[in-house]
Amino acid sequence: MRLSRYFLPVLKETPAEAQIVSHRLMLRAGMIKQSSAGIYSWLPLGYKVLRNIEQIVHEEQQRAGHVPVLMPTLQSADLWRESGRYEDYGEEMLRIQDRHGRDMLYGPTNEEMITDIFRSYVNSYKDLPLTLYQIQWKFRDERRPRFGVMRGREFLMKDGYNFDLTKEDAMHAYNRHLVSYLRTYERMGLQAIPMRADSGPIGGDDTHEFLVLAETGESEVFYDSQITDLKFGDREIDYDSVEQCQAVLEEFTSRYARTDETHDEAVFNEVPEERRRSARGIEVGQIFYFGTKYSEAMGATVINDKQEQIPVHMGSHGIGVSRLLGAIIEASHDDKGIIWPEGVTPFHCGIVNLKQGDEEADAACDSLYQQLTNAGLDPLYDDRKERAGAKFATMDLIGLPWRITVGPRGLKNGVVELTCRKTGESEEMAPEAAVAKVV
Ligand code: ATP
Ligand code: MG
Ligand code: MG
Ligand code: MG
Repeated sequence: MRLSRYFLPVLKETPAEAQIVSHRLMLRAGMIKQSSAGIYSWLPLGYKVLRNIEQIVHEEQQRAGHVPVLMPTLQSADLWRESGRYEDYGEEMLRIQDRHGRDMLYGPTNEEMITDIFRSYVNSYKDLPLTLYQIQWKFRDERRPRFGVMRGREFLMKDGYNFDLTKEDAMHAYNRHLVSYLRTYERMGLQAIPMRADSGPIGGDDTHEFLVLAETGESEVFYDSQITDLKFGDREIDYDSVEQCQAVLEEFTSRYARTDETHDEAVFNEVPEERRRSARGIEVGQIFYFGTKYSEAMGATVINDKQEQIPVHMGSHGIGVSRLLGAIIEASHDDKGIIWPEGVTPFHCGIVNLKQGDEEADAACDSLYQQLTNAGLDPLYDDRKERAGAKFATMDLIGLPWRITVGPRGLKNGVVELTCRKTGESEEMAPEAAVAKVV
């Protein structure tokens, strides 16, 4: 992409309404524009990162054997009356009437709708196990929408639902989700720690939240510091293997890690004092097992091998896709701007032309652009007639992992400058060497 043809409305001033750094940087980098409280337009740069995050979530869900679907954002209130949640859900639910006076709502979550889909088609245990998921917009009329996309009212969520014959099978689905979430967050350059949590309005007994430690997080958390040493890394896992998934769950949940809702001082005090930590965290996901709560209420049953009709065991599993942008920036920035992890960056490499209009510099930039593109990368070429300082500031603000700076003086010696956003280190080298290093 050539910056002269792109739409990147960066702000010079720090927006006064933004209280936390990720919100400030998303506004300054021209990623989002608020349209009303907690509701945002996604401008090109923000949209690109959002799509990258979605892509990782899709890949990891499908790697775990989960099947993508897409359900509508608007739902009929009748489905929610069946589960009893229409009255219970409270003021976070945006209730709407259509022209015929029928009660509808903008979905805050989809247990009812997916259970309705399931019961309409599946009758036999032979069709289990099944996990369906979607990435779709949700609406919750939060009392205090704030911190930008972190606590929006309209927000993008990956929500997945497992249907299983037995509790054991459903617990395997739970464990599988835990493993796939660990992989998902790590690919985004994040450490998200599974912590024992409370199930809230979804209902159920078993649940873990995934928390990214950050001072600006809204959750209070307590944990054994050893847990931050755990990494899933690139180990191979067979998602069909009950033992393998169970082992990962045990590894990642055997140390003390809880949100304030389930925190227990007595148990916490058994952790050696020097390892006890209390901190704040951002909830970027949650997994639940809730058994037959919805399947019984809504008649989602299958015939088992003894010809008995039994309600299926279910769980639901969410990832805060749009919140993740804020969480990643909270975890990865400096005073100049964002530092995107490679896995989600909107562009892989920036090209800064120090003397736009200079024949040699222009040609060298065009050639670099071509080489990077041919290598399958997505570069952003700042080809504007701007001061070098302004170009550098923009590149630092939008946080691309690499920057190649091209100017007539360097070109005389056959070199360009390659700068790593994260370390700030610069090195002069031949253009081809810079390309090789970025690729
Ligand atoms: P919170 O405790 O932050 O209100 P939640 O527990 O109500 O979140 P869940 O029902 O568990 O949310 O939804 C799954 C995920 O969706 C959450 O883990 C979070 O990452 C994301 N999420 C929830 N509410 C919002 C929101 N208002 N804005 C952005 N993301 C959200
Ligand atoms: Mg909530
Ligand atoms: Mg929560
Ligand atoms: Mg939650």
